[in-house]
Amino acid sequence: AEVVLSRGEGGRWAMAIHGGAGTIPKSMPEERKQAYVRSMRAALEVGRGVLAGGGRSIDAVEKVVRFFEDDSLFNAGKGAVFDHEGGHELDAAIMDGSDLSCGAVAGVRTVKNPISLARLVKERTRHVLLVGEGADRFAAEMGVERVGQDYFFTQYRYDQWQEELEKERQGSDRKRRVPSRHQPPPHRQHGTVGAVALDSHGNLAAATSTGGTTNKRFGRVGDSPIVGAGTYANNRTCAVSGTGAGEEFIRHAVAHDISALVEYGGASLQQAAERVVNGKLRKGDGGVIAVGRDGAIAMVFNSEGMYRGAADSSGRFEVKIWE
Ligand code: ASP
Repeated sequence: AEVVLSRGEGGRWAMAIHGGAGTIPKSMPEERKQAYVRSMRAALEVGRGVLAGGGRSIDAVEKVVRFFEDDSLFNAGKGAVFDHEGGHELDAAIMDGSDLSCGAVAGVRTVKNPISLARLVKERTRHVLLVGEGADRFAAEMGVERVGQDYFFTQYRYDQWQEELEKERQGSDRKRRVPSRHQPPPHRQHGTVGAVALDSHGNLAAATSTGGTTNKRFGRVGDSPIVGAGTYANNRTCAVSGTGAGEEFIRHAVAHDISALVEYGGASLQQAAERVVNGKLRKGDGGVIAVGRDGAIAMVFNSEGMYRGAADSSGRFEVKIWE
Protein backbone atom coordinates (compact mmCIF):
# COMPACT_ATOMS: atom_id res chain seq x y z
CA ALA A 1 0.00 0.00 0.00
CA GLU A 2 1.21 3.46 -0.83
CA VAL A 3 1.75 5.78 2.11
CA VAL A 4 0.46 9.29 1.57
CA LEU A 5 2.73 11.83 3.18
CA SER A 6 1.87 15.40 3.99
CA ARG A 7 4.74 17.80 4.39
CA GLY A 8 5.33 18.86 7.94
CA GLU A 9 5.87 22.40 9.15
CA GLY A 10 8.62 23.91 7.05
CA GLY A 11 9.98 20.44 6.26
CA ARG A 12 11.88 20.39 9.53
CA TRP A 13 13.76 17.19 10.31
CA ALA A 14 16.43 16.09 12.80
CA MET A 15 18.47 13.00 13.50
CA ALA A 16 21.01 11.67 15.99
CA ILE A 17 23.09 8.51 15.80
CA HIS A 18 25.35 6.59 18.16
CA GLY A 19 27.98 3.91 17.75
CA GLY A 20 28.31 2.93 21.40
CA ALA A 21 29.52 4.37 24.70
CA GLY A 22 32.08 3.33 27.28
CA THR A 23 35.74 3.56 28.10
CA ILE A 24 37.01 4.85 24.80
CA PRO A 25 40.72 5.60 25.25
CA LYS A 26 41.76 8.99 23.90
CA SER A 27 45.02 7.27 23.06
CA MET A 28 43.36 5.16 20.37
CA PRO A 29 45.38 5.09 17.15
CA GLU A 30 44.62 8.11 14.97
CA GLU A 31 43.82 5.80 12.06
CA ARG A 32 41.15 3.95 14.01
CA LYS A 33 39.67 7.20 15.28
CA GLN A 34 39.45 8.55 11.74
CA ALA A 35 37.80 5.34 10.60
CA TYR A 36 35.05 5.80 13.23
CA VAL A 37 34.57 9.44 12.30
CA ARG A 38 34.38 8.59 8.59
CA SER A 39 31.86 5.86 9.21
CA MET A 40 29.66 8.02 11.43
CA ARG A 41 29.68 10.82 8.88
CA ALA A 42 28.68 8.34 6.18
CA ALA A 43 25.86 7.08 8.43
CA LEU A 44 24.61 10.65 8.92
CA GLU A 45 24.67 11.10 5.13
CA VAL A 46 22.52 8.00 4.75
CA GLY A 47 19.95 9.38 7.19
CA ARG A 48 20.05 12.88 5.73
CA GLY A 49 19.42 11.43 2.29
CA VAL A 50 16.14 9.93 3.48
CA LEU A 51 14.97 12.81 5.69
CA ALA A 52 15.95 15.78 3.49
CA GLY A 53 14.12 14.11 0.62
CA GLY A 54 10.89 14.08 2.63
CA GLY A 55 11.25 10.40 3.59
CA ARG A 56 9.98 8.78 6.76
CA SER A 57 11.88 8.62 10.04
CA ILE A 58 11.22 4.88 10.36
CA ASP A 59 12.99 4.32 7.02
CA ALA A 60 15.84 6.65 7.99
CA VAL A 61 16.62 4.90 11.29
CA GLU A 62 16.41 1.43 9.73
CA LYS A 63 18.71 2.43 6.88
CA VAL A 64 21.27 4.06 9.17
CA VAL A 65 21.38 1.08 11.53
CA ARG A 66 21.71 -1.31 8.58
CA PHE A 67 24.68 0.72 7.41
CA PHE A 68 26.31 0.35 10.84
CA GLU A 69 25.48 -3.37 10.98
CA ASP A 70 27.44 -3.88 7.76
CA ASP A 71 30.45 -1.96 9.11
CA SER A 72 32.78 -4.20 11.10
CA LEU A 73 33.91 -1.32 13.34
CA PHE A 74 30.71 -1.58 15.35
CA ASN A 75 29.29 -4.19 17.70
CA ALA A 76 26.23 -4.91 15.57
CA GLY A 77 25.87 -7.25 12.63
CA LYS A 78 29.36 -7.82 11.18
CA GLY A 79 31.75 -7.06 14.05
CA ALA A 80 29.41 -8.27 16.81
CA VAL A 81 31.13 -9.31 20.04
CA PHE A 82 31.74 -12.95 21.02
CA ASP A 83 29.61 -14.67 23.63
CA HIS A 84 31.01 -17.16 26.17
CA GLU A 85 30.70 -20.08 23.74
CA GLY A 86 32.56 -18.21 21.00
CA GLY A 87 29.41 -17.47 19.02
CA HIS A 88 27.44 -14.34 18.20
CA GLU A 89 23.87 -13.57 19.28
CA LEU A 90 22.34 -10.36 18.05
CA ASP A 91 19.60 -8.10 19.44
CA ALA A 92 17.72 -5.25 17.75
CA ALA A 93 14.59 -3.14 18.05
CA ILE A 94 12.77 -0.51 16.02
CA MET A 95 9.83 1.70 17.00
CA ASP A 96 7.52 4.08 15.17
CA GLY A 97 6.41 6.99 17.36
CA SER A 98 3.35 7.74 15.24
CA ASP A 99 1.42 4.67 16.38
CA LEU A 100 3.75 3.06 18.96
CA SER A 101 4.15 0.07 16.65
CA CYS A 102 7.40 -1.74 17.36
CA GLY A 103 9.33 -4.89 16.59
CA ALA A 104 12.34 -6.54 18.14
CA VAL A 105 14.50 -9.65 17.93
CA ALA A 106 16.91 -11.10 20.48
CA GLY A 107 19.54 -13.80 20.36
CA VAL A 108 19.43 -14.22 16.58
CA ARG A 109 22.40 -16.09 15.10
CA THR A 110 21.92 -16.23 11.34
CA VAL A 111 20.62 -12.83 10.26
CA LYS A 112 22.87 -10.36 8.48
CA ASN A 113 20.74 -7.32 9.40
CA PRO A 114 18.79 -7.87 12.62
CA ILE A 115 17.27 -4.37 12.46
CA SER A 116 15.41 -5.25 9.28
CA LEU A 117 14.16 -8.46 10.87
CA ALA A 118 12.92 -6.36 13.80
CA ARG A 119 11.07 -4.16 11.33
CA LEU A 120 9.44 -7.25 9.81
CA VAL A 121 8.34 -8.36 13.29
CA LYS A 122 6.71 -4.93 13.61
CA GLU A 123 5.03 -5.04 10.23
CA ARG A 124 4.33 -8.70 9.50
CA THR A 125 3.40 -10.25 12.85
CA ARG A 126 1.03 -9.56 15.72
CA HIS A 127 4.01 -9.76 18.10
CA VAL A 128 6.62 -7.36 19.39
CA LEU A 129 9.62 -9.49 20.37
CA LEU A 130 10.85 -12.75 18.86
CA VAL A 131 13.83 -14.59 20.37
CA GLY A 132 16.42 -17.22 19.52
CA GLU A 133 15.60 -20.08 17.21
CA GLY A 134 12.08 -18.81 16.60
CA ALA A 135 13.40 -15.48 15.40
CA ASP A 136 15.82 -17.24 13.05
CA ARG A 137 12.92 -19.37 11.75
CA PHE A 138 10.92 -16.20 11.15
CA ALA A 139 13.92 -14.84 9.23
CA ALA A 140 13.87 -17.92 7.01
CA GLU A 141 10.17 -17.46 6.38
CA MET A 142 10.62 -13.79 5.49
CA GLY A 143 13.47 -14.58 3.12
CA VAL A 144 15.89 -12.04 4.64
CA GLU A 145 19.59 -12.46 4.04
CA ARG A 146 21.08 -15.20 6.24
CA VAL A 147 24.74 -15.78 7.07
CA GLY A 148 26.85 -18.31 8.93
CA GLN A 149 28.32 -17.38 12.32
CA ASP A 150 31.71 -16.97 10.62
CA TYR A 151 30.37 -13.89 8.87
CA PHE A 152 30.37 -11.97 12.17
CA PHE A 153 34.04 -12.71 12.95
CA THR A 154 36.53 -9.89 13.43
CA GLN A 155 39.99 -10.26 14.93
CA TYR A 156 39.42 -7.20 17.12
CA ARG A 157 36.34 -8.66 18.85
CA TYR A 158 38.02 -12.08 19.06
CA ASP A 159 40.97 -10.56 20.93
CA GLN A 160 38.58 -8.71 23.26
CA TRP A 161 36.84 -12.01 24.04
CA GLN A 162 40.17 -13.78 24.70
CA GLU A 163 41.12 -10.98 27.10
CA GLU A 164 37.84 -11.43 28.98
CA LEU A 165 38.38 -15.18 29.20
CA GLU A 166 41.89 -14.62 30.51
CA LYS A 167 40.62 -12.23 33.18
CA GLU A 168 38.03 -14.82 34.15
CA ARG A 169 40.72 -17.52 34.46
CA GLN A 170 42.89 -15.29 36.61
CA GLY A 171 39.96 -14.49 38.87
CA SER A 172 38.81 -18.09 39.16
CA ASP A 173 41.09 -19.17 42.01
CA ARG A 174 40.04 -16.20 44.08
CA LYS A 175 36.98 -16.69 46.25
CA ARG A 176 33.83 -16.47 44.17
CA ARG A 177 32.01 -13.29 44.94
CA VAL A 178 28.48 -12.37 44.01
CA PRO A 179 28.91 -9.52 41.54
CA SER A 180 27.77 -6.25 43.02
CA ARG A 181 25.86 -3.69 41.01
CA HIS A 182 27.67 -1.03 42.94
CA GLN A 183 31.01 -1.92 41.44
CA PRO A 184 30.45 -1.70 37.73
CA PRO A 185 33.00 -3.47 35.60
CA PRO A 186 34.60 -1.04 33.19
CA HIS A 187 32.25 -1.06 30.23
CA ARG A 188 34.52 -1.78 27.30
CA GLN A 189 32.23 -3.50 24.85
CA HIS A 190 31.31 -0.28 23.12
CA GLY A 191 30.05 -0.42 19.57
CA THR A 192 26.29 -0.87 19.89
CA VAL A 193 24.57 1.32 17.31
CA GLY A 194 21.41 3.38 17.27
CA ALA A 195 19.54 6.09 15.42
CA VAL A 196 16.65 8.40 16.27
CA ALA A 197 14.89 10.74 13.89
CA LEU A 198 12.13 13.28 13.41
CA ASP A 199 10.90 13.50 9.82
CA SER A 200 9.34 16.44 8.01
CA HIS A 201 5.89 14.93 8.61
CA GLY A 202 6.32 15.20 12.36
CA ASN A 203 6.90 11.50 13.00
CA LEU A 204 9.54 10.18 15.38
CA ALA A 205 11.30 6.80 15.19
CA ALA A 206 14.08 4.96 17.03
CA ALA A 207 16.25 1.93 16.21
CA THR A 208 19.02 0.10 18.10
CA SER A 209 21.15 -2.93 17.20
CA THR A 210 23.87 -4.78 19.10
CA GLY A 211 25.87 -7.93 19.59
CA GLY A 212 25.42 -7.39 23.34
CA THR A 213 28.29 -7.70 25.79
CA THR A 214 31.52 -9.66 25.30
CA ASN A 215 31.53 -13.11 26.90
CA LYS A 216 27.80 -12.95 27.73
CA ARG A 217 26.26 -16.24 28.88
CA PHE A 218 23.08 -18.30 29.13
CA GLY A 219 21.11 -16.48 26.44
CA ARG A 220 21.68 -13.09 28.02
CA VAL A 221 19.64 -10.29 26.46
CA GLY A 222 20.41 -6.60 27.07
CA ASP A 223 18.36 -3.44 26.84
CA SER A 224 18.65 -2.77 23.11
CA PRO A 225 15.72 -4.98 22.02
CA ILE A 226 13.64 -4.12 25.10
CA VAL A 227 11.16 -1.41 24.17
CA GLY A 228 11.20 1.27 26.87
CA ALA A 229 14.69 0.33 28.06
CA GLY A 230 17.17 0.77 25.18
CA THR A 231 14.75 1.88 22.48
CA TYR A 232 11.59 4.01 22.51
CA ALA A 233 9.68 6.44 20.29
CA ASN A 234 6.46 8.36 20.83
CA ASN A 235 5.25 11.30 18.73
CA ARG A 236 3.94 12.97 21.89
CA THR A 237 7.44 13.23 23.33
CA CYS A 238 10.66 11.94 21.78
CA ALA A 239 12.63 9.08 20.25
CA VAL A 240 15.46 7.54 22.31
CA SER A 241 18.23 4.98 21.73
CA GLY A 242 20.61 3.99 24.52
CA THR A 243 23.97 2.34 24.80
CA GLY A 244 25.91 1.06 27.77
CA ALA A 245 25.43 -1.37 30.65
CA GLY A 246 22.22 -2.97 29.42
CA GLU A 247 21.10 -4.42 32.75
CA GLU A 248 21.03 -0.91 34.25
CA PHE A 249 19.08 0.47 31.30
CA ILE A 250 16.49 -2.27 31.81
CA ARG A 251 16.26 -1.67 35.58
CA HIS A 252 15.60 2.01 35.09
CA ALA A 253 13.48 1.72 31.95
CA VAL A 254 15.76 4.46 30.68
CA ALA A 255 14.27 5.28 27.28
CA HIS A 256 10.69 5.34 28.53
CA ASP A 257 11.66 7.23 31.67
CA ILE A 258 13.04 10.06 29.53
CA SER A 259 9.82 10.12 27.50
CA ALA A 260 7.74 10.11 30.69
CA LEU A 261 9.66 13.05 32.15
CA VAL A 262 8.89 15.02 29.00
CA GLU A 263 5.25 13.90 28.86
CA TYR A 264 4.24 14.18 32.52
CA GLY A 265 7.05 16.14 34.10
CA GLY A 266 7.19 19.03 31.68
CA ALA A 267 10.95 18.63 31.34
CA SER A 268 12.81 19.68 28.22
CA LEU A 269 14.36 16.77 26.35
CA GLN A 270 17.85 17.79 27.46
CA GLN A 271 16.78 18.04 31.12
CA ALA A 272 15.00 14.70 30.97
CA ALA A 273 17.98 12.91 29.40
CA GLU A 274 20.41 14.45 31.89
CA ARG A 275 18.22 13.59 34.85
CA VAL A 276 18.03 9.92 33.90
CA VAL A 277 21.60 9.42 32.65
CA ASN A 278 23.25 11.39 35.45
CA GLY A 279 20.72 10.80 38.22
CA LYS A 280 19.67 7.18 37.80
CA LEU A 281 22.46 5.38 35.99
CA ARG A 282 25.83 4.81 37.65
CA LYS A 283 28.83 6.81 36.48
CA GLY A 284 30.35 5.03 33.52
CA ASP A 285 27.18 3.16 32.52
CA GLY A 286 26.76 4.81 29.13
CA GLY A 287 24.42 7.24 27.46
CA VAL A 288 21.55 8.04 25.13
CA ILE A 289 20.74 9.94 21.98
CA ALA A 290 17.29 11.49 21.67
CA VAL A 291 15.26 13.68 19.34
CA GLY A 292 12.21 15.62 20.48
CA ARG A 293 8.97 16.27 18.62
CA ASP A 294 10.19 19.84 18.06
CA GLY A 295 13.47 18.65 16.55
CA ALA A 296 15.60 19.23 19.66
CA ILE A 297 18.55 16.84 19.88
CA ALA A 298 20.02 15.54 23.17
CA MET A 299 23.15 13.39 23.37
CA VAL A 300 23.98 12.70 27.01
CA PHE A 301 26.46 10.17 28.45
CA ASN A 302 28.25 9.54 31.72
CA SER A 303 31.02 7.34 30.34
CA GLU A 304 34.39 8.44 29.05
CA GLY A 305 33.05 8.74 25.55
CA MET A 306 30.19 8.00 23.18
CA TYR A 307 30.50 7.72 19.43
CA ARG A 308 27.73 10.02 18.23
CA GLY A 309 26.52 12.37 15.56
CA ALA A 310 23.71 14.81 14.84
CA ALA A 311 22.25 16.39 11.74
CA ASP A 312 19.17 18.48 11.05
CA SER A 313 17.40 20.63 8.48
CA SER A 314 19.05 23.82 9.76
CA GLY A 315 22.38 22.54 8.44
CA ARG A 316 23.80 21.00 11.60
CA PHE A 317 26.06 18.07 10.74
CA GLU A 318 28.53 16.90 13.38
CA VAL A 319 30.27 13.84 14.75
CA LYS A 320 31.93 13.50 18.18
CA ILE A 321 33.55 10.85 20.38
CA TRP A 322 34.54 12.57 23.66
CA GLU A 323 33.18 15.81 25.20
N1 ASP B 1 23.51 -1.92 25.81
C1 ASP B 1 24.10 -3.03 25.14
C2 ASP B 1 23.74 -4.31 25.86
O1 ASP B 1 23.75 -4.31 27.07
C3 ASP B 1 25.59 -2.96 25.07
C4 ASP B 1 26.17 -1.62 24.68
O2 ASP B 1 25.44 -0.67 24.45
O3 ASP B 1 27.40 -1.53 24.59
O4 ASP B 1 23.51 -5.31 25.22
